[in-house]
Amino acid sequence: MTQTDTPTTAIDRAIFSDLYIDGAWRAGSDGERFAVVDPSDGSTITDFAIATEADCDAAVDAAAAAFPAWSARAPRERSEILRRAWEILTAEADTLTELMVRENGKSWPDAKAEATYATEFFRWFAEEAVRVPGEYRLSPAGDKHIVVTHHPIGVSLLVTPWNFPAAMATRKLAPALAAGCTMVLKPARETPLTSAYVVSVLERAGVPRGVVNLVTPVPTGPAVARMLNHTAVRKLSFTGSTEVGRELLKTASDRVISTSMELGGNAPLIVLPGADLDVAVDGAFLAKMRNGGSACTSANRFYVHDSVHDAFVERMTERLSTMPVGSGLDRHNELGALVSVKERDKVADLVDTAVEEGAHVVTGGTKSDTGAFYAPTLLTDVQHGSTINATEIFGPVTAIVRFTDVDEAVRLANDSEYGLMAYVFGEERLAMQVGQRLDVGMVAINRGVVSDPAAPFGGTKQSGLGREGSTEGILEFLETQYLAVSV
Ligand code: NAD
Repeated sequence: MTQTDTPTTAIDRAIFSDLYIDGAWRAGSDGERFAVVDPSDGSTITDFAIATEADCDAAVDAAAAAFPAWSARAPRERSEILRRAWEILTAEADTLTELMVRENGKSWPDAKAEATYATEFFRWFAEEAVRVPGEYRLSPAGDKHIVVTHHPIGVSLLVTPWNFPAAMATRKLAPALAAGCTMVLKPARETPLTSAYVVSVLERAGVPRGVVNLVTPVPTGPAVARMLNHTAVRKLSFTGSTEVGRELLKTASDRVISTSMELGGNAPLIVLPGADLDVAVDGAFLAKMRNGGSACTSANRFYVHDSVHDAFVERMTERLSTMPVGSGLDRHNELGALVSVKERDKVADLVDTAVEEGAHVVTGGTKSDTGAFYAPTLLTDVQHGSTINATEIFGPVTAIVRFTDVDEAVRLANDSEYGLMAYVFGEERLAMQVGQRLDVGMVAINRGVVSDPAAPFGGTKQSGLGREGSTEGILEFLETQYLAVSV
């Protein structure tokens, strides 16, 4: 469907399938389109416009032209536009939820939770827009005043993944808008409808033409590289795999572009001796199964102490094997489809390899005949360093390693090129001590979810550079300027 067709229902009205450049929705300049597919049944939802190189150039040019006026707007005015976006998206949460269910395949509860989380970035950064810090102080020698101010960095390229199509977009759009930047958003090919709808909400909230632009080039790599080489682009904010992030860092280095990188994870989850198993199982279930396991923060490597291992396995198995699985349009289902049959088969291959390497399937291990579904799965006797332990699974598979010594668990948890997230369950003092020894950006202590727009999200090692959300998120879109003023 294109914007010229006549929509009939609320969800049809929310389906924007064109590029958004300089305040106008339009097809790509060569008229080509790609199919957006519902992974729960393989049906085509709509065809989305493909952006050509000329369209990408036009989007960057529009952002560059809009920058002087937008960056000069009073912070309060930018704040109020963001606040209106929060109000509209809050009122239309079910529409946003349904779009994600349809193009991503996730369950209704997962999509609803993401809709709330995504929307909150607009409220949080509406509040941060008017609180950008500065400094004014006397130099130690007493010869000058040191004045420190922050300015919007300029045209920003925002590249997002398919797993949280709303939240990964708003986590970048909101701080960039609050800071006074203009931007080009490049969503994942699998899930462009959610981003296009969010952009349409920003349009209704009063974001002026050219400030936010949306392009969907196919193939992606050359188009993104071209935009990074456009002289107007000053910032790249990327969320996606470490593999693609590494390539983009190389490209961005040609023009020394400022980068914020939210990359892959391989989160350890440690259950310590003496852990409260009610808390540990509730938390571990969330840490694993939120978003069907397709989360960068997803618990991937379970290290469970020998003394609680069997009871933990029994209780997790009970939870996983009774989970309702199926289309997210049935709101009772708790686990939806993976984003594509290809992603589903990657998960299935990882489980098959794990079994070849000595793991035992306690529950699950099967894929659906139709749709991209994979059963909630639990594996025991997984070895540290085995393929499934060393790979970001990105699916509903709990892979358990047994340990006997806490220091050894810390060593194993840190033995990874990733450093995004870790979970620790146990008596609070010991859990805090263990958490502080983990080389990761975020640690959940006796809980399964950490994401919060008010908290700094990001990783160490090859999980990324910079932080999103919190008071730090807006700084990623600001340049610091120091003025030396003689006394
Ligand atoms: P991906 O790296 O394949 O794609 C991410 C984005 O980059 C998409 O928009 C894609 O079209 C684009 N892209 C792909 N190849 C490109 C190239 N050569 N040049 C420029 N852009 C390119 O990732 P994905 O499969 O969409 O998402 C899953 C990954 O994202 C996982 O590794 C996950 O851990 C990570 N992720 C990280 C965070 C975080 O905050 N750290 C959050 C969500 C997802």
